[in-house]
Amino acid sequence: MVHKITTIGFDADDTLWQNEEFFRLTQGLFYDLLRDYADPDQLAERLLQSERKNLGQYGFGIKGFMLSMIETAIEVTDQQVPAEVIQKIIEAGQEMLSHPIHLLPHASDAVEALGRDFRLVLITKGDLLDQERKLAQSGLGEMFDAVEIVADKTPETYIRAFMRHGHGPDRAIMVGNSMKSDVVPAIEAGGWGIHVPSKFEWEMERAEAPVHHPRFRVMQDLSELEALVSQLV
Ligand SMILES: [Mg+2]
Repeated sequence: MVHKITTIGFDADDTLWQNEEFFRLTQGLFYDLLRDYADPDQLAERLLQSERKNLGQYGFGIKGFMLSMIETAIEVTDQQVPAEVIQKIIEAGQEMLSHPIHLLPHASDAVEALGRDFRLVLITKGDLLDQERKLAQSGLGEMFDAVEIVADKTPETYIRAFMRHGHGPDRAIMVGNSMKSDVVPAIEAGGWGIHVPSKFEWEMERAEAPVHHPRFRVMQDLSELEALVSQLV
């Protein structure tokens, strides 16, 4: 028996608002600060290694990113990094933490339109304070029936969220830019996964698209979401 879809989960960063682009800008600044010690490719590689290693302890978000940049700076300079450089890294991170939000095209319209017929759940990972700040600034907070700020996005995360706020994952759709965090685990949980690719994708969010899965869909941007959802229900 097929049950009707009742609930739609939205990712936040790079699905509703811009995020990765700010990380790239800060990374560019980081490469400039350390250009006397290493070239950008080496720095990118080392930074990614640090981020990967630290993820289990720091979680996702800007504060962990700052600490990984500092760690990388210490390593590539053989502990000679000037305090000024550390200060600039911290300032760049603080600027990210206070950067005004940029909603992506159609985000507000899509959320508003779907909110009329479905329960909407925002499911995002990252620093709690930062995500709360961005949600408040976005003006979209009121449109969601529930918000889940989680440490990571696994199939269990989606089972829990869609049980708690809906009628289980098989009656839910997850919409997001990350194949690895939004689409694949939501489908593994038994739900639908709609991929909305973003302009920039973080290395660690890449995964193979489940192209042959009947519950996988892709769209160009959120303007297509309402029509796509109406085909699935
Ligand atoms: Mg995202």
